[in-house]
Amino acid sequence: MDTLPPRDPAAPDGGSGGLCASRETMADAARAAGKSEVMDRLMADYPRGPHDQPQSMCPAFGSLRVGLRMRRVATILSGSACCVYGLTFTSHFYGARRSVGYVPFNSETLVTGKLFEDIRDAVIATADPKDYDAVVITNLCVPTASGVPLDLLPKEINGVRIVGIDVPGFGVPTHAEAKDVLSGAMLRYARLEAEAGPVARPRNHVEDRRTLAVIGELFPADPVGIGAMIAPMGLDVGPQVPCREWRDLYGALDSVAAAAIHPFYTASVREFRAAGRPVIGSGPVGAEGTDAWLDAVAKVSGATEAQRQAARAILDPIRALLAANPVKARVTVSGYEGSELLVARLLIEAGAEVPYCGTALPRTEWSEADRAWLAAHGCHVQYRAALEQDLAAMKEARPDLALGTTPLVQKAKEMGWPALYFTNMVSARPLFGPAGAASMAAIVAAQTGGRERFSRMVSFFDGVGTADRAGYGFRGVPQDPPGFRDRMRKLRAAQAKAEEAVGT
Ligand code: SF4
Repeated sequence: MDTLPPRDPAAPDGGSGGLCASRETMADAARAAGKSEVMDRLMADYPRGPHDQPQSMCPAFGSLRVGLRMRRVATILSGSACCVYGLTFTSHFYGARRSVGYVPFNSETLVTGKLFEDIRDAVIATADPKDYDAVVITNLCVPTASGVPLDLLPKEINGVRIVGIDVPGFGVPTHAEAKDVLSGAMLRYARLEAEAGPVARPRNHVEDRRTLAVIGELFPADPVGIGAMIAPMGLDVGPQVPCREWRDLYGALDSVAAAAIHPFYTASVREFRAAGRPVIGSGPVGAEGTDAWLDAVAKVSGATEAQRQAARAILDPIRALLAANPVKARVTVSGYEGSELLVARLLIEAGAEVPYCGTALPRTEWSEADRAWLAAHGCHVQYRAALEQDLAAMKEARPDLALGTTPLVQKAKEMGWPALYFTNMVSARPLFGPAGAASMAAIVAAQTGGRERFSRMVSFFDGVGTADRAGYGFRGVPQDPPGFRDRMRKLRAAQAKAEEAVGT
């Protein structure tokens, strides 16, 4: 979610207020405390881009949410109370309806190692096989920087799996990628279990059914639509990653191949590959995108040419729907869901002009086909996009509609331009196949048609204070006390001078 105000990316936590040390200081502390391997892995899996820390919320929310959405999985956090407060608040705001465990610490338990013992006690007390298949314990920033060794926890207690992960804000750039941290750790655990011997049969398992695992959190109707598209090739959609229960992990790994529809699940892809499963990128958006994606599915699943041609029958209805629902608008796209490039593709296929597509996520091989296609259609793709880049692109493009995060939408509306919140409005609709082809035009038309309303809103509020001159209880535009800014400027200059003197 991005309902939080924009944060200072230079702060270790991106400005959320959880920590005071710099990002590099925290990373160095983690390495010094024995977490070099963890930090190396995080840096390799989630490389920083031109912008170190996209302005979204605490990354650990991603992994927390994945755990909370799984049946019979307990989640415990270890971190500063303010971080845990924010994370639990947000998870309940999003309807978790589950308890989040918390192991608090103070300087003494952190320094003496008692925190690790407290975590172990909490895990042992929670690991009741009557209630749980697994317990997930997450180190937030401070315990990671202090080297709390979750890898020393028992791997299993009374048959309940114990999964320990480090999700520090100074190592995982976005909450989307934190979903992969937990999904990858669970897939690894499940893969090693499956390699060691028989495992539980996935729910709804059908003998001899060939499935395609889908990576990414999709709109609920989309896996059904994908299932219909690949059925002519003798395939069904397997369990989605992130999974909803532990045994689904076995089902996902048992698939013929995996489709990295959301292209940032690096750790999860590693596990699929370790299990010998090929992974394809992109997704079945529009007619061209669907054709190319079906081709990739056919290759990795060994479908015959006849099966492939049978699957292509879906392309005519998609083309017809795109033609019947044209999008006649210039649209900019930005977000941090992982589906931004696919949304931009669909818009362009529907007739829109999309000069810019920004994503907070990194460039990976699984979005490469989409990037190349978009570039060939005049769309600049910005990976690891910062809010400032998204805003600059929007201002330059002057779109009929801006799709983006809350601060971007807010800025667009201030300027009287139609804008839509990506997460709530775009991700809450089908994207793939015929359903996706029909879905986008209506929202674009509804919003661009309201442009005049936005202009009226701007003129209605004309003369009202904005930014630091806004507020309740004023009869006019709030004014600074006389001389206030000048005094503050002089104070800052004096402070800077004093610090300079100390430095010399
Ligand atoms: S865990 Fe780290 S990134 Fe998350 S709120 Fe706390 S300090 Fe910020």
